[in-house]
Amino acid sequence: MNVFTGVAGHEAIRERLAAALDQDTVSHAYLFEGIEGVGKHTMARAFIKALLCTEPQAQHMPCGHCVSCRTLDSGNHPDVSWIRRESGKNSLGIRPIREQLVGDVRTQPYQSAYKVYVVEDADLMTPEAQNALLKTLEEPPSYVVIILLASTSTGFLPTILSRVITIRFQPLAADVIAGALVERLGMHAEQAAVTAALSRGSLGYALQLAGSQAFNALRAELTDILTELPHMKPAQVLALADFFERNKDRQDTVFSLIKLWYRDLLMYRSTHDENALITRDAAETIRALSATYTTEEVLKLFGNVQKAEDSIRQGAQYTFTIDWLLSTLI
Ligand SMILES: [Zn+2]
Repeated sequence: MNVFTGVAGHEAIRERLAAALDQDTVSHAYLFEGIEGVGKHTMARAFIKALLCTEPQAQHMPCGHCVSCRTLDSGNHPDVSWIRRESGKNSLGIRPIREQLVGDVRTQPYQSAYKVYVVEDADLMTPEAQNALLKTLEEPPSYVVIILLASTSTGFLPTILSRVITIRFQPLAADVIAGALVERLGMHAEQAAVTAALSRGSLGYALQLAGSQAFNALRAELTDILTELPHMKPAQVLALADFFERNKDRQDTVFSLIKLWYRDLLMYRSTHDENALITRDAAETIRALSATYTTEEVLKLFGNVQKAEDSIRQGAQYTFTIDWLLSTLI
């Protein structure tokens, strides 16, 4: 099945949408629910392209050259509207819904069999906006397809949820993300594996990390620190507070990278297999360091990092907690 070329993972969803195209059972309204960067936009774009292509190839593969495909690629398709929050607003109010959707649905499509409305951040719709949308969902014109994109389905009126087909996007597996990074960015497999491990199932976030020089610099600095740590004097360890203070805004990434490091130390101690490592580009260092720690010591280090991360998340003061963490490393 090639209809959804370019969409990473989500096989079951691709099959489901392809079957709807095959059997001509496309619904009037969908809710794509999943974390940011998981692939909801990409899936919506691929689905719309297959739906609107006027010269589809086998298995609804869009042709790529008809007027519909070309106008979609350039973002100017007259029968597709992307509805977004007004700039500066943190909710999606009634105005864009009323003006761009409710007030527009009765106009027949210009060049396609369908008219598609994609509502971004639909979970941020105000109750008024949802009520306005509900009227269209209750009696949609035959040619209308509405796709709501949302991080979560909580907060929707039950009457909305009962009129849409909810499709849940699960976080992507790390190997799917790593594969996409290699394929799209030409990234080395080792680097892709580390980035994927930190992405929490979001390809969008992984791509952001991959393109970030700040992330690469952070990782390089932290790798040096973790390599040197067993040989540092107590005063040097305590001075690492400066590193944590500088990277306070990126504490999630810092904690994840440290845990990844100790996870790999444990993995190497138990398997002696470099292929089992996620930070494979640091395999030589991991191998050398694995002999300087006992398994119990690494477990304790990992546990303390986790404890510090949890404490901060539960409201403990950052600087104080970091000082405590560093004191356990001496
Ligand atoms: Zn086409």
